[in-house]
Amino acid sequence: MTNSPQYEIRVTRSAGIRSYRVALGARMTVLDALFSIQSHQDSSLAFRCACRVGMCGTCAMSINRVPRLACKTRISALDSSVVTLAPLPHLPVIQDLVVSLAPFFEQWKRIKPALRGPGSAELAIVPPDPETSRKRDCITCGICYAACGVKASHADYLGPAAINKAFLRIRDPRDLAGRERLKILNDEWSGVWRCHTQFNCTAVCPKKIDLTGSIGRIKRMSFAS
Ligand code: SF4
Repeated sequence: MTNSPQYEIRVTRSAGIRSYRVALGARMTVLDALFSIQSHQDSSLAFRCACRVGMCGTCAMSINRVPRLACKTRISALDSSVVTLAPLPHLPVIQDLVVSLAPFFEQWKRIKPALRGPGSAELAIVPPDPETSRKRDCITCGICYAACGVKASHADYLGPAAINKAFLRIRDPRDLAGRERLKILNDEWSGVWRCHTQFNCTAVCPKKIDLTGSIGRIKRMSFAS
């Protein structure tokens, strides 16, 4: 690792910004950098991770001002010798890079995510069409919520992931709560009409879910209902 490029990792911690110098190989990720800092320079640095392969979403954080998964972000791909790390915006900080996803899941609960209807105990059925197939892949990482420009000024906005979840439920042929969900989604202050179609959520989603498309479909459903 001695010939590996050196990076300055600037971390927004609960006590203020701290800088660390780390040598990292080309294939190493932001999560590798954090483990290196924690093992060799500062054991008090707090961050969260679990699967390390982009499946669990727990290592989401702001990396060079863009919300991303630390385990899926190679340092070399950032094209900068200075890397800034901060907790995800719009969420309360627990410590350093660790945030509480409670506000994200409060919005998620509002759209009544459980299937309502016969066969409720079974897994969700989603029509096998290209529009909905990828939308099931959400790992509830909160990245789209953090990237949403509307959340900055409207804390009660449902947010892209919750709206996408509602869209999937409405598309499930067994679901009997479509009207109830559409009423919530149609709310003037917190529903889909708050979305300004900036595509920030779609641009950052690590699962490449067309969130703006789901929001647009709900808007059209609301007109038709
Ligand atoms: Fe994360 Fe994408 Fe799910 Fe949003 S929709 S929570 S960015 S996986």
